[in-house]
This record gives sequence, C-alpha cells and structure tokens, in this order.
Amino acid sequence: MNVADTEVVLSIMSGNSYGITDDAAKADVIFINTCSVRDNAEARVFQRLATLKQYKKQNPGVVIGVLGCMAERLRTELIDKRNLVDVVVGPDEYRRLPELVNDAFSGHKGIAVKLSRVENYDDILPLRTEGVGAWLSVMRGCDKFCTFCVVPFTRGRERSRKLASIVSEIERLSSLGYKEVTLLGQNVNSYHDGEFDFPDLMAAAAAVDRSMRIRFMTPHPQDISEKLIGMIAATPNVCSYIHLPIQSGSNRILKDMNRTYTLEQYLALTEKIRTMIPGVGLSTDIIAGFPGETEDDHRATIDALKRVRYDGAFMFKYSPRENTKAWDMGDDVPEEVKVRRLSEIIDVQNAIATEINAELVGATVEVLVEKISAKSDDEWMGRTDNNKFVVFAKDGAAIGDIVNVKIMKANSATLMGSIV
Ligand code: SAH
Ligand code: SF4
Repeated sequence: MNVADTEVVLSIMSGNSYGITDDAAKADVIFINTCSVRDNAEARVFQRLATLKQYKKQNPGVVIGVLGCMAERLRTELIDKRNLVDVVVGPDEYRRLPELVNDAFSGHKGIAVKLSRVENYDDILPLRTEGVGAWLSVMRGCDKFCTFCVVPFTRGRERSRKLASIVSEIERLSSLGYKEVTLLGQNVNSYHDGEFDFPDLMAAAAAVDRSMRIRFMTPHPQDISEKLIGMIAATPNVCSYIHLPIQSGSNRILKDMNRTYTLEQYLALTEKIRTMIPGVGLSTDIIAGFPGETEDDHRATIDALKRVRYDGAFMFKYSPRENTKAWDMGDDVPEEVKVRRLSEIIDVQNAIATEINAELVGATVEVLVEKISAKSDDEWMGRTDNNKFVVFAKDGAAIGDIVNVKIMKANSATLMGSIV
C-alpha cells in the first residue's frame, strides 16, 4: 500500500518539475513514507530520521518530509520534537505536497493531515518503477474498526475509485507490458463504486488482457462472497490465491477484536474456498498476545493453523496502538509470554508450510519470471499462480516469461528447481 502511495507522490512531484534521485545526498527534498500499524514500524522510521540528520548538516536547505500514517497519527509531535522535519503530510493530502515543499524552501514548516471522505487520487497516474507487476490502489480507508487496529484512524473512511477509471489504468499497464496487477485496498473486497462491487471489478480487470495475472490484497473474511469465490474459480487469469487474515483461533478473542466472524464461520469459509477453487493458495495474518489472551486462546490459534494448513502466514506480536479500543483493554500479556507464543506459532506454521511445499518436490509448476533471486545473480525468482515463490537457474528465460519449472527442493518459504 505504501509503495503504491509513494508512486502517487512521485507522480504529483514529477508533475511539478521535480526529478527522482537514488542518492539522498544530492536530493533537495527527502520524503519518508511511514506505517503506524505496529510500534516497531514507527521505531524504524525514527531510526531512519536520525540517519537523515547528516543530509541536513551537509545541506541545510534540504526539505525533509514525513508522509503517511505516522504523519496522521503524530502530527505536530514530529515537527516540535525534532527540528529535522519540515513537512508532515497525511495519506489524503498528497496533492498539497508541492505547495508545502515550496513553503518549506522559504522556511515555513507545514502540516497537512486532514482525512478526506472522497480523496482517492483517481485522476493521478502513479509513477511506477518498471517491472513485471504493478500495484493498483482501488479503494482507500477502512470502516471495520478491529479493536487492535489504527488504520481506520490514520487512513479514514472507506471510499472506492470508479470501475471505469481502474479498467482504463489496467489497459494502460497492459500496453506498457506489465504482466501482473495487484488490486489493493485495506479492505479490498468491500470495494463498491456505487454501481459495481468487488467481484464485478475483478471480472472487468481480468477481461482487459487475458494474459495478464490479476491478484488482490487484502480481503476481510466477512466480505468474501460466493460471487467472489466463483469469479476467482471461473477466471483463469485471476490468481488462485487468497490472503485471509484470521488473527486468532479463539472465539472469545475474535469477539474482543471485533473481527465479526467466529472460528467456525472462518473454517467453513476456507472449506468453501478450497472446494470451489482447487489448488488455491491460502495465507493469513496472526496476532499473538492480544489483551486477555490465555494459554487456551493461544492453543486455539495453534489448532486453527493446524486445521487450515496455510501456505504462508504473517505473524505478529500484539502492539498496543493509541486511540484504538484495545488500547483501553490494557496490554496485559507479558512481553516474554508474547515472544514465546509468537515463536510457537511461527514454528508450527513453518513446519506446516515445509510439509506442504515438500509435497511439490518432483512436480512441474508454471512460474512468471519476476526478478533476479536474492541469493544469486544467476538465478531468477518468480511466483506460481497460487503464490509459491520459486527460484531457478536462468537458463535463457527472461523477466516476464512464463516458464515451467520442475521442483527439486523446497523449504517453508521457497521452492527450488530448474526450467523444463
Ligand atoms: N486490512 C487488512 C490488514 C491491515 S494491517 C486486514 O484486515 O487483514 C495488517 C496486519 O497487521 C493485520 O492483519 C494484523 O494481523 C496486523 N496488525 C494490525 N494491527 C496490529 C497491532 N496493533 N498489533 C499487532 N499486529 C497488528
Ligand atoms: Fe485494520 Fe481490521 Fe480494517 Fe484490517 S479490517 S485495516 S485489521 S480495522
């Protein structure tokens, strides 16, 4: 989401005759786009800000801006406490950046953090870096108010772009040679533009170019309709992969989290998804140590992992966020208990993913070549339709190709093989 927002910011700035540099020492303006979802994300931003001091020392005229959710959450604190920051701009005010940066050049610090009910940057064509896949933000904000989550406060109310404008952006991406588009929203499947819902949007997106893969992130279990599952199943270029955050396996905790589903409803949904979309990849998010979580609740989460058998998971320690309902519940699970529970969750999930991936050794899978692998310049990394990461020797293939790879080895996160 932040990569997509940064591309919007780059587009706005380049439309005002700014250029982009990779070298911060040469920059006249440095922005940091931030996330507030957990405390460690914010801590990293403060560390990064400290490293920016050197640029200000070398060039006192450089304008430093904090953008995104932290700007919205901390506002004046960022300017008052650290003389380093010149502009603070929340997620709905990026159009004002050129004006605020101009003011900052003449010494006036600026804050713009109003949330909007309508801003969706529909008319701004993001300045994307070249690649195989493009992020495309289709809705902004969230109305769900899970009790642990700061997003509804930092990003405001839900609003969707018009289907026609999204489709024309995808047409453009197709003509530029992109092979994959990921439709983004905090709560992407509650997309509704007044006329069309999310399955309508996905169907229209997939019809633009049948050789282009369509993915989406992140859906909420409550809004996964049969229409959506049926559409994914029936549309070959919509990827068979759903990231479906469960958060906890305990009904009591789910209720306190305001997740709006029970474990039983969630499990029934995953069964329906697996029946209707054979071979579907499923992943999830888990929070360990939510207020009031007992050992029984924790075991219920581990049981849920074992029952669903996810291909992957993002697993977090609960991090209290000011303003949220859970903040008032008190952060009563001791840190060492949170750490232990999280590591048990990670161990169980990694063992499951390792078993699932081991079953693929010997199989041949279809992979879209995306980039050079992190470990070796001689290898490509790509993904299968159901979102398995695959690494293999280049063997004449090029980025953007679809290749068949025979899997030789696997671990919990990656399949390794060779092109056949
Ligand atoms: N809209 C998406 C994800 C939003 S944030 C959804 O509902 O799934 C991504 C993930 O961060 C969440 O799924 C949750 O697991 C985690 N998260 C959010 N707030 C958190 C908090 N206060 N502490 C720990 N993890 C949190
Ligand atoms: Fe946060 Fe819940 Fe909204 Fe996801 S659905 S962004 S977790 S409030």
